[in-house]
Amino acid sequence: MHEYNYALKIFKAAEKYALETENGRFLEIKIKLGKESGLSAENICLYFEQISKGGICEGVKLTFDIVEPLLRCVKCGKLFKRSPFSFACSDKNCSGEGEPTEIGKEFEIGPITIKS
Ligand SMILES: [Zn+2]
Repeated sequence: MHEYNYALKIFKAAEKYALETENGRFLEIKIKLGKESGLSAENICLYFEQISKGGICEGVKLTFDIVEPLLRCVKCGKLFKRSPFSFACSDKNCSGEGEPTEIGKEFEIGPITIKS
């Protein structure tokens, strides 16, 4: 249910662009989506399809760029992917631990382009 509002945001961006420029069916929208955003790309697509059906944005293609979450080491500042059950820094010479960052929680509507 959650994804409906996000699909609506994408729809509004797409509609604006489609009205200004091209027919929506030729458009492609890139979405940056963090793996820990709590949003499902699949659900966003389903809602988007429902919302855009029959309108100028029917057929707009959504392309998802999925972002892996990264931790930042509190000691050396390095960004790294978490290994299962561990927060230890990926640098073997560093004994620091990583803390969660905003990387991996994104929802960004990226560039809208003409489908190639
Ligand atoms: Zn470190």
